[in-house]
Amino acid sequence: MAPVEGEYAFECPYCSAEVSIAVDYSAGRRQAFTCDCEVCCRPIAIRLEVGQGGVTSFEAEQE
Ligand SMILES: [Zn+2]
Repeated sequence: MAPVEGEYAFECPYCSAEVSIAVDYSAGRRQAFTCDCEVCCRPIAIRLEVGQGGVTSFEAEQE
């Protein structure tokens, strides 16, 4: 069975720290949401696509 959730690590667009988030694969193929950087606490706009085997496209931008 395919995993329903995975970790994805990316670079914060503000402070360049590595941030990791939990991606819920069951929430849809294309997802867009905002999360706060663990280091600088600023809001990061996330857009991603989920394909077979996990995240196939990922963008993190300053909100
Ligand atoms: Zn940051």
